[in-house]
Amino acid sequence: MSGHLAVVGLGPGDARTLTPEAGDALAAAQALYGYGPYLDRVAVRAGQSRHASDNREERMRAAAALSHAALGARVAIVSGGDPGVFAIAAAVCEEIEAGPESWRALDLTIVPGITAMLAVAARTGAPLGHDFCALSLSDNLKPWELIERRLDAAASGGFVIALYNPVSRARPWQFRAAIERLRRHLPLSTPVVFGRAVGRPDEQVSVVTLDAADATNADMATLVIVGSRETRVIARPGRPPLVYTPRAGAEISA
Ligand code: SAH
Repeated sequence: MSGHLAVVGLGPGDARTLTPEAGDALAAAQALYGYGPYLDRVAVRAGQSRHASDNREERMRAAAALSHAALGARVAIVSGGDPGVFAIAAAVCEEIEAGPESWRALDLTIVPGITAMLAVAARTGAPLGHDFCALSLSDNLKPWELIERRLDAAASGGFVIALYNPVSRARPWQFRAAIERLRRHLPLSTPVVFGRAVGRPDEQVSVVTLDAADATNADMATLVIVGSRETRVIARPGRPPLVYTPRAGAEISA
């Protein structure tokens, strides 16, 4: 089968953080699929068709891109950050597993991108310098009780925690509940980084303590990094603080 599907990560926002491999995959595509605001970040090229969709329709979008590629076209489907991190690549795999046999024969390429937690971490120092994990706070696809259990396990296990999808209009209370949960395990002085729209013109980055962290710091475009007991803040004159987690040290919390 001659069709080809590229699942392409666009990085956090700044065009300079799009990899050359991703740029090549976008340039080679005859058809582009993706959530509207992500597609808007892709340069328009003559002869390329564009198929924008709503963010909630991931499976349908993945199926549409696969069907199009199965007709023999070169198709690219885009995602912010990395396509494999809480994003479209898993939806594409789900559709391939559930879909017609012919989709398994398609030439499929997943092109990685810089995910939000790496972009936010780089802005503040090295908060992910030792063991860390990533959790999505969205309970659209999993029950809230499971999220609470994972927060408990991550914090008591000594992991730095990157929180994706901290809040949305449909999920107003979850972030506060998550922070309250983490306060059971971690000192109130634990550093918390809020990175909003990193790599975009309206970028905002702030560092607070777990005590002061609250939902007003976060929105849908924010990635939150909650430190471990090892995470440190270095104050600097006239510059933002440096947040880092030393490479040595593994205090186990009670
Ligand atoms: N695939 C994406 C994540 C999609 S989930 C990636 O790898 O980055 C969407 C969540 O990602 C948002 O709610 C936010 O938590 C985070 N996010 C995406 N882009 C961001 C950016 N530029 N700055 C900060 N957080 C971002």
